[in-house]
Amino acid sequence: ALIITDECINCDVCEPLCPNDAIYVGELIYEIDPALCTECVGHFDEPQCSLFCPVPDCIPKDPNYLETPAQLLLKFERITQTK
Ligand code: SF4
Ligand code: SF4
Repeated sequence: ALIITDECINCDVCEPLCPNDAIYVGELIYEIDPALCTECVGHFDEPQCSLFCPVPDCIPKDPNYLETPAQLLLKFERITQTK
């Protein structure tokens, strides 16, 4: 999963781009639900949020949720099954 750092300027670019609805408005900044973020695996070649976020390096990989491409694909399959 990716994580939004406190560099976030609350511009709202990322939220509508997420194919998994993993991004939400947190207490101070936008946040990512790691249970829903597949790093866009299954939908796009690149993570859409970090691709279009205007702040450089604002959305890195979450060090607490480092996942392999295979794990991300499994998560994608799990999420789309329950939809
Ligand atoms: Fe959503 Fe993709 Fe960003 Fe994860 S990487 S929060 S799935 S847009
Ligand atoms: Fe924050 Fe970047 Fe999302 Fe804008 S696109 S709300 S700066 S994380």
